[in-house]
Amino acid sequence: MSQPVEDNGEHDELVRENIQVMRKRVEEMTRTGAALVRESNGLPKSGADFELYNSYPTFNAFMKRSEERLNALIGKITKSIGCAMRLPDVGSSIEHYTECVIEAQDNIAERVATLHGVLKKAERDTIVKVPEFITKAGPTNRKTEAEVAEAMKTFSANIGTVLAAKFRERREEAAQMVVHEKPQRTYNITSDNSSAPFASKLTVKHHAVERRSGIVVVDDNESGQRDWISASAETEEEHPYIAEMLHFKVPEKQLKSVTPQKFKTLTETPLTIVDTKEKLESLRDKLNSVEEFSVDLEHHEMRTYLGLTCLIQISTRDEDFIIDPFPMWDRIGILNEPFTNPNILKVFHGSDNDVLWLQRDFGVHVVNLFDTYVAMKKLKYPKFSLAYLAFRFADVVLDKQYQLADWRARPLRNAMINYAREDTHYLLYSYDMLREQLLQQGHKDLENVYAESNDLCIRVYKKPVFNPKGYMTEIKFRFTLNNRQDFALTSLYRWRDIVARAEDESPQFVLPNHMLLSLAETLPRDVGGIYVCCNPLPYFVKQRTGDILKIMVEARDIKLEKAERSVKEKTDAQEARGVMNDSMDYITSVLKSKIDFSHTKFDEERGELDIDKNEEMKEILEKDHKESLLSVLESSSVAPNPEAMTVVEKGKKPDNKKIGKLLNELDKFVTPFECYQMMLIAKQKQEEEDREEAERKRLEEGDKPKTMFSHHDAAVVRKPEFDPKILNVDNLKVEATEAEEQQKETTMEEQAEPPIFDPSRFSDDQIMSKKAIKRKMQAARRNIDVSVVLGETSSCSDPKKIKTEEESGEVEEFDYNKADSSEFEKPVSDPNAAFDPFHQKYRLKNKSKKNNSMKKSSNRTGTINYKK
Ligand code: AMP
Ligand code: MN
Ligand code: ZN
Repeated sequence: MSQPVEDNGEHDELVRENIQVMRKRVEEMTRTGAALVRESNGLPKSGADFELYNSYPTFNAFMKRSEERLNALIGKITKSIGCAMRLPDVGSSIEHYTECVIEAQDNIAERVATLHGVLKKAERDTIVKVPEFITKAGPTNRKTEAEVAEAMKTFSANIGTVLAAKFRERREEAAQMVVHEKPQRTYNITSDNSSAPFASKLTVKHHAVERRSGIVVVDDNESGQRDWISASAETEEEHPYIAEMLHFKVPEKQLKSVTPQKFKTLTETPLTIVDTKEKLESLRDKLNSVEEFSVDLEHHEMRTYLGLTCLIQISTRDEDFIIDPFPMWDRIGILNEPFTNPNILKVFHGSDNDVLWLQRDFGVHVVNLFDTYVAMKKLKYPKFSLAYLAFRFADVVLDKQYQLADWRARPLRNAMINYAREDTHYLLYSYDMLREQLLQQGHKDLENVYAESNDLCIRVYKKPVFNPKGYMTEIKFRFTLNNRQDFALTSLYRWRDIVARAEDESPQFVLPNHMLLSLAETLPRDVGGIYVCCNPLPYFVKQRTGDILKIMVEARDIKLEKAERSVKEKTDAQEARGVMNDSMDYITSVLKSKIDFSHTKFDEERGELDIDKNEEMKEILEKDHKESLLSVLESSSVAPNPEAMTVVEKGKKPDNKKIGKLLNELDKFVTPFECYQMMLIAKQKQEEEDREEAERKRLEEGDKPKTMFSHHDAAVVRKPEFDPKILNVDNLKVEATEAEEQQKETTMEEQAEPPIFDPSRFSDDQIMSKKAIKRKMQAARRNIDVSVVLGETSSCSDPKKIKTEEESGEVEEFDYNKADSSEFEKPVSDPNAAFDPFHQKYRLKNKSKKNNSMKKSSNRTGTINYKK
């Protein structure tokens, strides 16, 4: 690697050239890297729009392809630098990828450090042996745990380990940023999430101007473009400092050119974490005594309805402060004093939100503001970010990775404190520079920046008002919804807002937009269906699945009005569905559930099967009918003519009559459950045949039929002890009126099952449709009534039926004295004996068998006598 070189001049030249080439490469990489970051920042973000976009097939497919490419690239890079590793599977979570990259970084850092040490040694020794594992590092995943541990020990306390430790710290930090309890609860921070208008939290009005005769003097001579009246008229409630704002004149000192005062380095600047009342009061006193200070806020939105200020950063020329507002939420208001002092300048960057958050959470108002963002706009800078400002004037690169961090996390991590601190640290110097540039550009421009900044302060915080049709702008639709879906969307949208207010959560946390849309589009019928639409399952969806189900049921109850949709809309909807359930193909989706199609590609709400989609249509047309469902119909005795069943032919107009006929045939298609039933019946028939066969054989062999069976006997020979004819309800004879007889007959006809099996062996609910069972039950009741009218004893012990007997007044009184008690000894003779709609006889017979052939009879009052 480093050979002794004779010609030192030549060698130096070579090194210089190499360094230059390297530098160029690094610059190029930095540029491309910056461009990459910029571009990737433009992509929809997870938790914001990403999930919704991702439900679009085009986007989803693109992202999948990109991930595959990136995955391959990472593989190539890690391999080429000698630390090939097992990459996460495509589709893995971002954490898996981060782990992988960090591991590679650790590896590189360690090897750089080792090389560094080796080269250092090389300056002393002439011959250097670079350890082989560095030049030919094997894949990390092939190293054993022990090897890794050993390597860690060997290189501890070198630069690489320090770097690796830093990466690890980052990871741990991320893990510690998990908030376990909402600060609203921990610190008892309450918010009025009701729809009542916002009530100002201002308790003491510092720096109030004297209001002579209560008339507000409108002073807008200074800047022609200002319209104070309309600005104040826009607000629902008057700004507590409206008079002060209108009277406000920018102090002369802020309009003069002054030599910019360079910021102190972070190490030179004391930092105070303000987390007690005392520290806060001391800060207020300090701020009251300075000429200017800069301010920034960190904010959290996801787990709160209105939003929550998490940090207030303040920098004076000499000091940095970070206020943790949680432990003294109601005391922050005392800062209103320096904040509304018109002689103290407040510098913010992009204060639109900050000003309103201060009003909302603390009743702090701002008078005398300079917004660096407004100034950058006025100066027509190429970019307007704080990072660009700091880079331009302080030559620092702000690490904005914490911008979207969960700022509620406590204790505050050093990295986050440093990040937050830098947001205000360079602002006062930047203000100086901007002010000078504005003055150079023209005095008016500086004044206008002050004026526009004050326009931002004059706005009043207003609570969000629920807009029932807010989803029209908030959620991007894939296609027009039908009236049911629209109802569901409206209801869910309202439900979400109500829950969010009650639980102090953001509507997005309760139910993200893409899930809301998915629910409204598919209208799932069951909890499972809801869960499919909401993955990962949001907490409140799980908690209140019932609410959602209710909305779904209500939506489905609405009469469907057909809405015309464009082909593109249909395709989009179909494809969106495909993306959501891409593990399920068409056939499985139809077979999967007869009841709830909501989790399948079949769009129930559209009410039509998507065979009009070109490819699927082709498939149907090109298939030979013998391979299709039609072949089943053909093989049956009533096989339709294949010609007659060709409904659509290429190049010919479709025959609507035939299509209707086909659909009719398809309606007759046996459902899977019916298949199961038939299979069951066929199986039992087979068993019955086997049994008969076995019996026949035994009889031939001279065996008496066995009546008692044990578990040693095969199941097929254990013939049940009853006469199947008695049980054959459909063969029973009922002595009734002719009309009834006729009715019975038609009923029987309707009930008649295909001769392929004997239905008598099975209970009604196994073989009969609900309708048929109902009819049968009705017939049964009629027959019972007949027996009662005739004054016959009923074999029916059902108390309900007995009640019917008692209700009918036509029944003769029964004289027990005249009655022949021997009657009870005789077997019951009943003209309706053959009729046993509820298999009473079967049950009774079995029972009496158990009770040693006890006979059962019932008297008129319904008591049952058992006689030997
Ligand atoms: P900053 O002014 O950059 O310190 O941001 C203040 C707060 O605004 C942060 O704590 C975030 O809550 C929020 N914020 C800033 N930038 C974004 C963004 N791009 N998207 C969503 N929220 C943001
Ligand atoms: Mn900010
Ligand atoms: Zn900030």
